[in-house]
This record gives sequence, structure tokens and C-alpha cells, in this order.
Amino acid sequence: MAESKPIRVEICPHGDMEIVLKERDPNTDFLGAAKYILQVSSTQLCTGSTVFRAMLGPNSRFEEAAMLRENKRQQFVEAVDQKPFQLSLGADDHNPTALAAVLYVLHARTETLPKTLPFDALVAVAVVCDYYDCATALRPWDEMWMEPWREHAEEDGFESWLLVSWVFGVQEIFDTLTKKFAVNGYAKGGGFHVGDGRRRSTVPLHDGIPEKIIKALTEQSNRLRDQVVSTYLELYKAYEDIEKCHCQILSGYDICDYRILGILHIELQAEGLLPVASGGPQGMAPAYIARTVVGRLESISKHLRQIHGLCLTKIDECLARLSSIPDAAEPLPLSSFAKGSIIKKDSRSWEDLLSLDDDMAVDE
Ligand SMILES: [Zn+2]
Repeated sequence: MAESKPIRVEICPHGDMEIVLKERDPNTDFLGAAKYILQVSSTQLCTGSTVFRAMLGPNSRFEEAAMLRENKRQQFVEAVDQKPFQLSLGADDHNPTALAAVLYVLHARTETLPKTLPFDALVAVAVVCDYYDCATALRPWDEMWMEPWREHAEEDGFESWLLVSWVFGVQEIFDTLTKKFAVNGYAKGGGFHVGDGRRRSTVPLHDGIPEKIIKALTEQSNRLRDQVVSTYLELYKAYEDIEKCHCQILSGYDICDYRILGILHIELQAEGLLPVASGGPQGMAPAYIARTVVGRLESISKHLRQIHGLCLTKIDECLARLSSIPDAAEPLPLSSFAKGSIIKKDSRSWEDLLSLDDDMAVDE
């Protein structure tokens, strides 16, 4: 296969470093031909990104930092005409366009950047910012790029907003989505899927979502599911106890009870909600289970309301409790997951700009 010339992007025309994105051999994992060469300044990278600072900064013990220092020494001390130091990365490790966009911002070369991005590009930028831990340095570009997509955050197909809101610290969207997903999602194969788990298609959450968020969502979702299950089981078990008659109209009139139990049993079993195995029904969202049971109880209630309306107290109570469970979901606390700073509504005033606070201090 003929090797084509790599595409050269001068993000910093006299920069001391080149990021070379190379094809990665899928079998050996070795890097081969260069696809893109991005010329940058190592100082700018270190200022905006803690990952680059750790890798290339003056105190770094990484091989890359030693090579970069040696390259500079030859250039300035020995006056050897040196090419910029090259840092090789796999071309598929990052979306090259997203990486370039982030690098443009880190170099304050924003005059060429688009003011709007497609949603998948915004997600790709968030992935790069997460990887290099440089989300805060992107402000306010991240806010500008997120703005047109904010109104879609809760729509199907925009589940990656969870990743975006986590990386860029958008509290209200992270709150809304973690609540929504805990209610309308379930754990599956070590990941977390959004959807009811039965009739409608489900979407796995972006694999860039950190493990601890997946774990917390799973725990929250399982907790809600257990509440839903114990609520309908309590009702089922009350009717299953044939020693007790619940009919309020005719004492000992079992037909009323049998009717309720029969419908409950058949319908719940048909939905896979009975018998309840240990760990609860798997692969079903709490909202789906609640909705299904509510549907069944409402049809029982409709049938009995005319003749035995007084016997519906237990069913009405169960309906009310089931309907309130999804609303009781708590959002996950962004502050305990966020890496960058959370976007604050009240930014610092002009008068306070020179008083360095902990938030703004650059750690070395
Ligand atoms: Zn009755």
C-alpha cells in the first residue's frame, strides 16, 4: 500500500514539539505511518493540561520529558539545528479533529474555530478533554459549543450528554440525566443501558463514562427497582394469604380476592415479574416495571370499581406508591465525580480578578 503524505497542521508555527498521529497496527499494536502532524508548543500544553504537564513538564520523569529537554538543550546550548521534538500517538486513540480543536484552544488560536459543532463532535471534544484533563482550559468555548445542544439533553439519542456534562461540569444536566437514567435504565454486562429493557430499543452509555459513575448509577437504579418490586410484592403477598379475606362488602367473599390475585399472578408472571428471583428482575428499568404493574392494577381497579369499589383501598395505595417512586430518584452528586471545575452561574467579579483563590491557583 502506497504511503500518503501526512497532513501537517501548524497550530503553533514555531512550536517546539510535533504531535504525530500514526496508524496503529491492529495485530502488533505498533505505530506505523504518520497520518497527521500537529505542530504545537509544549509550554501551552503544560499550562492547559495536567496530563501533558505530568508528561512533559519541568519536573516530569517521563522519557518524553527527558527527550524534549535534550532536544531543547541541543538546539539552544549546542546550537544544533534541531527539528521539533516528536511525540507519537496512535491516530485512532483520539478523534484527530477533536484533538486539533482542543489544541487550538490551548494555544489561544481560536480565530479559526467554528462557533458551533455537531453533537458527535462535541462528544469527541469532551473525550479528548477528559483524556488530557484540560476541560477547564476550554472555557468558555465548551459553553458556547454546548449551548445549542442543551435543549436536546433529555431526548433519545443524546445519551452522551451525560459524558459531556460530566467532563465540562454542567451541574443541571448531569443532575437531570443521572436521575432520568437511574429510573429509565439498568445494568447489563458491566455497563449501563438506557431504555426500558423490554420493548423499546436500549442504548449503552458511552464507554468514556468512568466506572464509578456506572457503579453509582447501577446502585441507584437497583435501589429504585427494589422499591418498586417490594411495593407490588407486598400487595401480591397480602392477597396470596388465603387465610385472610380482604373484601369489604361481603365478609368471607373470597371471589373478590381470588379475582385480584388471579389477574395479578397471571399478568405479573407474563411480564417476567413473578416469581422474583434473588436480585430482582434483571435487565428491566425501574420505570418500566412500575409502569407495567400500574397498568395491570389500573385494569383490575376498573373492573372492580363498579361492584366492589370499597375493596380497592390496597390497590389504590399500591398505585400511589408505585407512581411516586420514579419521582423520588436522587441525582448523583457531580462534585464527587467531577475532574474539572463545575460551571458556576456567578463568575468572579472584575474587582476580585487579582485575588487568587484556591480554585484558580495553578498547581505545579
Ligand atoms: Zn370485594
